[in-house]
Amino acid sequence: MAVAARRRKALALTVAVMFVLFHLGALLPLWVGWSPVALWVALGLYLVRGFGITAGYHRLFAHRAYKANRVVQFLLALAGSLAVQGGLFWWVSHHRDHHAGTDTDKDVHSPVSQSFWYAHMGWMIAPSSFNSPRFRLTDLARFPELLFLQRHYLALLIAQAGALFGLGHALAIWAPSLGTSGLQMLAWGLFVGTVLLWHATFLVNSAGHRWGGRDHDTRDNSRNNWLVALVTLGEGWHNNHHKHPRSAKAGERWWQFDPTWWALRSLSWVGLVGDFQLPAQRKPVATAAQ
Ligand SMILES: [Zn+2]
Ligand SMILES: [Zn+2]
Repeated sequence: MAVAARRRKALALTVAVMFVLFHLGALLPLWVGWSPVALWVALGLYLVRGFGITAGYHRLFAHRAYKANRVVQFLLALAGSLAVQGGLFWWVSHHRDHHAGTDTDKDVHSPVSQSFWYAHMGWMIAPSSFNSPRFRLTDLARFPELLFLQRHYLALLIAQAGALFGLGHALAIWAPSLGTSGLQMLAWGLFVGTVLLWHATFLVNSAGHRWGGRDHDTRDNSRNNWLVALVTLGEGWHNNHHKHPRSAKAGERWWQFDPTWWALRSLSWVGLVGDFQLPAQRKPVATAAQ
């Protein structure tokens, strides 16, 4: 069913307003200051939500690069949803779209066929980004808990903001020596952390198709960029990724920093994830898909 033009415009405008508000919110520390506890919370959320995007949204849901215990799958989807990068189905649909026509006119975000800025952020405030998804995502839609997260995406974000404010406020009352407050925790945990994670993730789409080396002769302009890998828990080895999109690991050489893969490997040792797709031992897509 086609999404009405008015609704598409409204959604694009909502995203634009969110972008402005969150960037303004990231300036709040100028007024509310900082405290070690607020910084630790922001760092922890950056890592947890970042892992939700890299291991969850990207490698598990968009590419089916491994299999996860159903509870782990839900927690990864939840962590990814809290990163304020769109609902799971929207994100996965656009990412599969990106791989289907990388760096061509069909690519939803390419700094080759469009501008760097458009590939970085601009595409998300374009009404066309809210068209009906090209992919039906039946592999995800069979899990009611994932549909629940998509349906209640906005409520989750509001709950996250409330929880952070509440945590800071409670600490201000019960442990005033920590020097935090509701607004300070919200500023660091939600606004600063989210904006930093946004730009890190968005760099994969912009810088990851412009700057860096190429280990593989792919048909697109994807690049391996160590700086992007550093801030995205390993997603910066984007040329490797476009060569082996179904691989659970993006870093292919020993020095290619890929903490997402290291964390997945650790989870596999306790049986929470497994059946990794890897470049050297990939199975045919048809048999590997869930
Ligand atoms: Zn790409
Ligand atoms: Zn991908």
